[in-house]
Amino acid sequence: MQDDTNMAGTLPLIARAETYRDRLAIATPTDTFTYRDLLERSAQIATALLCGEADLQEQRVAFLVPAGFDYVATQWGIWRAGGIAVPLCTVHPRPELEYAVLQSGASILVAHPSFAEVLGAIAQTHALRFLLTTDPLPPAGTLPEIASHRRALILYTSGTTGKPKGVVTTHANIQAQVTSLVEAWAWQQSDRILHVLPLHHIHGIINVLTCALWVGAVCYMLPKFDAEVVWQCIEAGNFTLFMAVPTIYAKLIAAWEAAGDGTGQPSPRQQARSAACAQMRLMVSGSAALPVQVLQQWQQISGHFLLERYGMTEIGMALSNPLQGDRRAGFVGTPLPGVEVRLMGEQGIVPAGTPGEIQVKGPGVFLEYWQNPQATATSFQDSWFCTGDLAVVEDGSYRILGRISVDIIKTGGYKVSALEIEEVLRSHPYICECAVVGVPDAVWGEQVCAALLLEPGKALELDVLRSWAKDFLAVYKVPARILTVQELPRNAMGKVTKRALVELFQREFGIS
Ligand code: AMP
Repeated sequence: MQDDTNMAGTLPLIARAETYRDRLAIATPTDTFTYRDLLERSAQIATALLCGEADLQEQRVAFLVPAGFDYVATQWGIWRAGGIAVPLCTVHPRPELEYAVLQSGASILVAHPSFAEVLGAIAQTHALRFLLTTDPLPPAGTLPEIASHRRALILYTSGTTGKPKGVVTTHANIQAQVTSLVEAWAWQQSDRILHVLPLHHIHGIINVLTCALWVGAVCYMLPKFDAEVVWQCIEAGNFTLFMAVPTIYAKLIAAWEAAGDGTGQPSPRQQARSAACAQMRLMVSGSAALPVQVLQQWQQISGHFLLERYGMTEIGMALSNPLQGDRRAGFVGTPLPGVEVRLMGEQGIVPAGTPGEIQVKGPGVFLEYWQNPQATATSFQDSWFCTGDLAVVEDGSYRILGRISVDIIKTGGYKVSALEIEEVLRSHPYICECAVVGVPDAVWGEQVCAALLLEPGKALELDVLRSWAKDFLAVYKVPARILTVQELPRNAMGKVTKRALVELFQREFGIS
């Protein structure tokens, strides 16, 4: 193992890549790229971003690039120029993109040509420097030395108060998050991972992409998730690793079942797909609770008892079932290397068997919420980060019980804020009042559901509301179901009782 503490100011991720120069780094359905390609292109991008300056000095660079070589080269280019990378979400509508650009105070925007229109318009409105990934690049110049304590990344994540917050991690935080997983899951240079996750979220950026590049492995990137395409890749790709959210496993199960030939026996196609899974060394699930039914169905299909882990944008990964040894359905295991975890109740740390809030400490824990010192301060208790998730330890393993706030919804692995959605819905001319809840769902984990109180004499169809809302909200935040109500259930204090609302949706739609 190399000394990763200080390579004369070169970021360890980059210094390590120098030693893998001729190895394959990124593969896509149409191309392959070595670590040399990545080093060369990112040095050129860094030079272009610097535009004569010596160091971007933590200027924010927001970028909107689909998964692939250009995404990675841009991210590395920003880091090598001394900037903070702000990856934007490819399915966000303009208001959400604009929010991230403005809240982060980005001074430079980088777009793939497929997003040139939307990001170019934002750049123009706010007089920001705008680059395309297809712009001609200068020869690589001298790049700054970057100390590990500098800020590297801002990821936007929903909280219990209104708009998403920018989670800032330093290079040292990222390094700690990555090395913890490399150790726990025994990442090796010979690994090949299929990357199907979004690249504005920690799961895709850290657990899959950066872990792979840290060890000199191959990351095969698909521009977007499509269950059938993913199965074709798995069949042909000779992969050793796969990581996804439970919704993706549920969709892959449905696609595998659809590949049957009606005989009641696995079809040749199903057999080939199962065999391709069986030869992988590890399959991981996380970012949302893994339903036991999905775990069992996946085991039948793939032969893998999924390794479930628990983590969060602010802390990286905290808990994991073991790579070797028994994994327990419904449990997320024990603290990962370098991570300290405690469960806190009202009277202090709780004994085993008693539920408490998960609190986390360690070098992987984020630095701050961007330009929000108050939110940063209130999210820590004696330097432990308060996750807002409840858990209990049983026989030495952690079991997640749910979130303290009902206003945090997990749908398809995405964390969304009910309050943020309500704020948008209230701006609809027909809606007087509304309340948004997450209703349990076998495929999505939870589905965003909205109870609406409409202006007298007005009606609103789900399709109409959805297409209106998509102009303001990412598609996964747009309500999947709506109910028009005469009044919202409230407690004596007048506060909407969201648990009662969840039950109302379950009754109305026959969801158990
Ligand atoms: P994010 O920051 O988007 O990754 O969301 C983090 C949140 O996802 C956590 O605070 C949990 O509420 C939830 N989460 C992550 N992993 C799991 C898991 N294995 N089981 C249940 N919830 C999870």
